Amino acid sequence: MTRLDAGVRRFREQCRSAYQAHFQKLSREGQHPHTLFITCSDARVVAHLITQSLPGELFMVRNVGNIVPPANQTAHHSTAAAIEYAVDVLGVGDVVVCGHTQCGAMSALADGPPQADRLPHLRAWLEQAEAVRRLLPPHPADPIRAVTEANILWGIENLRSYPCVAERVAEGRLRLHGWLFVIATMEILTWNRDVDRFEPVETESRS
Ligand SMILES: [Zn+2]
Repeated sequence: MTRLDAGVRRFREQCRSAYQAHFQKLSREGQHPHTLFITCSDARVVAHLITQSLPGELFMVRNVGNIVPPANQTAHHSTAAAIEYAVDVLGVGDVVVCGHTQCGAMSALADGPPQADRLPHLRAWLEQAEAVRRLLPPHPADPIRAVTEANILWGIENLRSYPCVAERVAEGRLRLHGWLFVIATMEILTWNRDVDRFEPVETESRS
């Protein structure tokens, strides 16, 4: 039996009853997530774990490098479609762009996209975030951390390029947040625009 098979069996035998009423309610009432959570595909970033959220609470988007393309950059539609659906149809009240430390995509972005011809899709995906490199301070002490933070902030600004997002932010119905998950310490830092840096989650300033 594979690791996944064993996990499914354990869920069915030990956990399913605890969630039964919750999923019956979700089935009856549909999904009403309060947050669109955009993060990296990295296996170490588990949004429901680090936010202690239940099924139905987070509308999830995962992509390589938690990249949020601007609305007019139409080469890749998946993330853009999820933004429109979560904001315009589901009416979430918050959007989190959550990057993380030790991100392979951000390392690649800091070094320049991979040149290998055998990874054409990965290269094309990372190339769309090339603009992030122009946002970096000169000679950052930690170039990968600088790229990671700049990519989160670039993503938040790009969110505002979607008309449905801009409209709701202007009306005070939608808040945008930049988070950084530090894998080694499991700490969540949030962007504080007032002081222009990432800080522990308790001091977050909402925009
Ligand atoms: Zn990553």
